[in-house]
Amino acid sequence: PRVMVGAATCGLASGAGAVIEEFKKQLDKAGLGGKVDLVETGCIGLCYAEPLVEIRSANTPSVLYSKVSPKDVEKLVNSHLIGGEPVKEKAVGVMDDKPFKGIAPFKEHPMVALQKRIVLRNCGVIDPTSFSHYLARGGYKGLERALSMTQDEVIDEMKLSGLRGRGGAGFPTGVKWSFAKASQNDVKYVICNADEGDPGAFMDRAVLEGDPHSVIEGLMIAGYAIGAKYGYIYARAEYPLAIKRLKNAISQAEEAGILKNKDGFYFEIKIKKGAGAFVCGEETSLMASIEGVRAMPRPKPPFPANSGLFKKPTNINNVESLAAASSIMREGGAEYAKLGTEKSKGTKTFSLAGKIERTGLIEVEIGTPLRDIIEKIGGGCTDGKKFKAVQAGGPSGGCLTAEHLDVPVDYETLSALGAIIGSGGMVVMNEDSCMVEVAKFFLGFTGNESCGKCIPCRMGTQHALKILERITSGEGEVEDIERLKKICMTMKQSSLCGLGQTAPNPILSTLRYFEDEYMAHIKDKK
Ligand code: SF4
Repeated sequence: PRVMVGAATCGLASGAGAVIEEFKKQLDKAGLGGKVDLVETGCIGLCYAEPLVEIRSANTPSVLYSKVSPKDVEKLVNSHLIGGEPVKEKAVGVMDDKPFKGIAPFKEHPMVALQKRIVLRNCGVIDPTSFSHYLARGGYKGLERALSMTQDEVIDEMKLSGLRGRGGAGFPTGVKWSFAKASQNDVKYVICNADEGDPGAFMDRAVLEGDPHSVIEGLMIAGYAIGAKYGYIYARAEYPLAIKRLKNAISQAEEAGILKNKDGFYFEIKIKKGAGAFVCGEETSLMASIEGVRAMPRPKPPFPANSGLFKKPTNINNVESLAAASSIMREGGAEYAKLGTEKSKGTKTFSLAGKIERTGLIEVEIGTPLRDIIEKIGGGCTDGKKFKAVQAGGPSGGCLTAEHLDVPVDYETLSALGAIIGSGGMVVMNEDSCMVEVAKFFLGFTGNESCGKCIPCRMGTQHALKILERITSGEGEVEDIERLKKICMTMKQSSLCGLGQTAPNPILSTLRYFEDEYMAHIKDKK
């Protein structure tokens, strides 16, 4: 028998720690201490229903329970573990395929039914600190297959999969690997960008906390493909649990002879903690940060594939891309390419946040209609309020409105509408939300995070923010709309890096769809 408690950051923040302690107490009291595995697992995605507990026992099917508090634990132990009788009122679903005692299968849960979990395949299902759990789910089979192929064959497999960089830019991963492979040098690097910093985004954190080996495996596959023996994982220091889980997984891979073996295979992984600057998500400043100098973007070219970390050829992928790569190499690129749309293959993880009923972490096929994500998976807005908009892609993205609910969520469609898939943050706004305030919030964020190297971004964010503050405080004037548009266009065209080039997006997209709200503030002028 096994008790699995969701103990990712979301679970711990909801009180999973106290639930674990109570389970220890109650299992001892029932004489089951040491006989029942008490496992801390990652996030299964239903963050709104934390703390989540799954009970697996020989005499009953496994059942997932939600909103478990310490006072529920005694009943769960006595009724489910000892008596074989699930506690129906706390049950979310049966983890097996068939219903059991009136509890529906978990896979039919509205938040789960439409999902296709590839990157999140192990999150909330395995013990992320257990090497054998990862192996039991096909772990390191992708690496094994990659090592049996030539570097070019691995790159071709990635091209075949159609995987595009999940960090936000959407550049084809196989093509990116081919550039770094073509670059000749004795020393090359692969870097995992785990500097997730968008407000409302927590996909990468969940993968690192819930399935760290999948990222390590992907990084090693990328390293092999381009000919790099050195890997870095650049993880923000605000993710202490993710870093702890990564360190543990790296030691396990080392001990198992996966990183270095007697046949001469060698791969070294270092973790670099980032101090939480959003601009470090930009690859040139990320590399500067690893080198120990001030993290400021530099112009490209030279591109990292030619001259990257310590001026050596470097390939950078984000957490989700690498976790997908390990699965793609195991299952084959053609399998992955069956999912998604013609130009956007596979799946994408999204974090649902804001005024939505079921906040959490999801993974869907690219091209899934926005309505399915917001209404079917997310359960619509809280308190029965009307959906107004969703900010897609964080501070670099834009908003999608109720009129876009039936569009497919893919790279091309969203960018034509002035939003982006980005790294996958989705912050939902309801009928009460002021979209000018939303734009102001995101611009305040990018303004704070601007590194200050170039004038359009350094000054543009501050000027635009001042105007937005003027408008929301009832001091705005009609001319402010044109001023905002001019500043935004200047920033887009002349900022040095993606941060400044995309910072105006929340203003431009709210102006595009909600200019009337700007005008309402201006007309309400005191
Ligand atoms: Fe720094 Fe902004 Fe310029 Fe990027 S655009 S280099 S963040 S000032």
